[in-house]
Amino acid sequence: MSITHVETSLYRLPLPFVMQDSMHGKMTHSEFVVVRLRDGDGGEGTGYTYALNSGKSIAALIDGELGPFLQGRDADRIEAIWKDMWWHVHYAGRGGAASFAISAIDIALWDLKARRLGVPLWRLLGGHDPDVHAYAGSINFNFSVPELIEQNRQLVDSGFHAVKMRVGKETLREDIERVGAVRKEIGADVHLMVDANMKWSAEEAIRRSRALAEHNVYWLEEPTIPDDVAGHARIVAEGLTPVAAGENLHTIYEFQKFMAANAVSFVEPDVTNCGGITPWMKVAHLAEAHNLPITSHGVHDLHVHLLAAIPNANYLEIHGFGVEPYVEVPLPIVNGMARAPERLGHSVDFVWDKLAPHRLR
Ligand SMILES: [Mg+2]
Repeated sequence: MSITHVETSLYRLPLPFVMQDSMHGKMTHSEFVVVRLRDGDGGEGTGYTYALNSGKSIAALIDGELGPFLQGRDADRIEAIWKDMWWHVHYAGRGGAASFAISAIDIALWDLKARRLGVPLWRLLGGHDPDVHAYAGSINFNFSVPELIEQNRQLVDSGFHAVKMRVGKETLREDIERVGAVRKEIGADVHLMVDANMKWSAEEAIRRSRALAEHNVYWLEEPTIPDDVAGHARIVAEGLTPVAAGENLHTIYEFQKFMAANAVSFVEPDVTNCGGITPWMKVAHLAEAHNLPITSHGVHDLHVHLLAAIPNANYLEIHGFGVEPYVEVPLPIVNGMARAPERLGHSVDFVWDKLAPHRLR
């Protein structure tokens, strides 16, 4: 089962509309790096990661460092390959672009393994429950209040029981007015998450967390920078709204520090930037031992398998950077629920002809 072929491609995909959050400015495109592996028996696995604008660097890391390093390796020994990749780029790695590159390869290795064994990924990884609660992770910081109301009314009408909106406006008053307008529109029973995208100091986050409680917010996501573990712990302890974090944590060690410090209420790893499925599952099990739920960030087509595998699954984020136009079978969301597919591997089968016009390399 030696790896004989590693192919990297980079795409710049247009978003369905201009998206904005409190920190990243206006977003019109998302970059996807795709890795395709083949073994000596003709088995294939596909992995991918996405980045706002660092795709070239991630693709270069795979092409220049990690791809050649994989040639001839036993594709079944994923833990050994993962550890060797980690150390191969350790000096310039330990997170950052290296974690994105390793993620894409690790996802491809697990896809290859599941397909060779003839099973869907979620069954291979634990097989807890294929039915996963989904929420709409809208990126709508630049929406006016009427646009916010219209968007969330449509989401609830389409069956979602949980929605997320962006916060981080200049004043507390404006954030609370916007959240209050959405709460009024969706009613008391729909879960409402808010995402500050790291905007505030810990002090400001505590102030806003307390005010948000008036509208029964399910979680406050990324209230401050991911580097401030102690600040997150203060926001959990002194605020009045549970805290979600993890989309900007890139190693199992970073997650461990957050959990050990009681700095997070909803753990939110992203399989495309935490090092792939191998560390994602370790984070999920570590969270279980801390009696914490796991939610996901981005790539709902992949995360539905991972959340279906584990007993401490919370919500699956349905993300605005979805690849629906470019895959054979988009993930259906019915009455706010997703079901992990029974097709082989992760079953995110790209339609390469549709991706081709967007290929950068
Ligand atoms: Mg977020």
